[in-house]
Amino acid sequence: MSIYEIIVQVFLGVVLADIASGFVHWFEDTYGNPKWPIIGKWVIEPNIVHHEDPLRFTKGPFLRRNQAVFGIALVFAGLFALTDSLNVLTVTFLIAGSYANEAHRWAHLPTHAVPKAIRALQHVGLLQSAQHHWAHHRKGFNTHYCSLTNMMNPFLDGLHVFRLIEGVLEGLFRIKPRYDREAYQHPTLGRRWIAPTRRLACAAAFHARVRLNAVLTWPHRCFGLNSFA
Ligand SMILES: [Zn+2]
Ligand SMILES: [Zn+2]
Repeated sequence: MSIYEIIVQVFLGVVLADIASGFVHWFEDTYGNPKWPIIGKWVIEPNIVHHEDPLRFTKGPFLRRNQAVFGIALVFAGLFALTDSLNVLTVTFLIAGSYANEAHRWAHLPTHAVPKAIRALQHVGLLQSAQHHWAHHRKGFNTHYCSLTNMMNPFLDGLHVFRLIEGVLEGLFRIKPRYDREAYQHPTLGRRWIAPTRRLACAAAFHARVRLNAVLTWPHRCFGLNSFA
């Protein structure tokens, strides 16, 4: 493998880890419930506490603040090993993904507490800068979900990827984002702007579901069989 191929695979591994950090974070913020078994206490609750008190998680011991993400990385490492797919790209993905929470922590620390090499990487956007991450906290916790670099948030937010998925999940399965539900409404989340993209995706997915349901139940309706709708 040439040096160029290694560089490309390392870069792709970091990009994929950044996207993965965004999806995990989005899921936590949008659907996570602290009452869920195991991950409710170890993943969702600390995430809610972080929105209320952003600096608290920066003070804990290294292992405690990273245990959830290391656990997820171990599961993926096992899957890659079992499927014989450990290579430069997947190993970079695992290492970079494991450090997503540390990158998040560096983005919250005061400048003087961040090592110079890390500051240089933050400056060029290869690690997430404080200013970039603060947009997540400032804008109602519904943008800038990726926490490793500054590279992928502009694409995912610009394309309304998360609002589209939320809309499709709501239209198909009636799964509402956490901030819409009466049963679990965290005060710090407040009222959030419901993007037109999400409403459109929801309407389109609901329409598709109704059409599909009509097609699936057609023989039953025509031949007088019991509907399973
Ligand atoms: Zn944060
Ligand atoms: Zn968040």
